[in-house]
Amino acid sequence: MVYLKSIDAYGFKSFAEHTHVDFDNGVTAIVGPNGSGKSNITDAIKWVLGEQSAKSLRGSKMEDVIFNGSKERKKCQYAEVKLTLDNHSRKLNIDEDTITVERRLYRNGDSEYYLNKERTRLKSVIDLFLDSGLGKEAFSIISQGKVDEVLNAKPTDRRYLIEEAAGVLKYKKRKKEATHK
Ligand code: ATP
Ligand code: MG
Repeated sequence: MVYLKSIDAYGFKSFAEHTHVDFDNGVTAIVGPNGSGKSNITDAIKWVLGEQSAKSLRGSKMEDVIFNGSKERKKCQYAEVKLTLDNHSRKLNIDEDTITVERRLYRNGDSEYYLNKERTRLKSVIDLFLDSGLGKEAFSIISQGKVDEVLNAKPTDRRYLIEEAAGVLKYKKRKKEATHK
């Protein structure tokens, strides 16, 4: 089982300062008043895993994920989130016990991804997590309102979720890539 060891965020939504959150190999509950940033943590995870839709990160454009200032604090020029994952199980296809995945976005729109500190492409991040149960569309992240959304979804969209959970999505994706060459 792959599990999330920690998150480091800077400049992402309400995380104006560098924020480090450790997770244990068990259940972690994050509690706090309304608007204190609980959902921003799951947004940060989805964002690193390659989320491209500003709307599913509850914004209108991607720049909205960058801390946009407050009375006491200037806005940040970029947002950065790093996930540290435990890969002792080797479920993710990189031969390392610990894997870090990082995404950075500048106000001019430039976006960067890193896997174990090496610059990489969005596609490599998505491929790494495809069918691992951890991808941005995976069943492992259930946001507020998601249960209703799944129940009301079109059958094709619901099937997508089931296929990701069953682990057949990567074969479908490879078939599509092969037949389009
Ligand atoms: P609830 O209990 O209502 O679900 P929550 O703890 O999940 O609340 P979030 O939705 O994570 O709260 O946090 C919302 C807060 O994040 C708001 O105060 C909002 O102003 C702040 N926020 C979101 N984007 C930015 C940004 N780009 N810059 C600064 N603050 C931001
Ligand atoms: Mg919330």
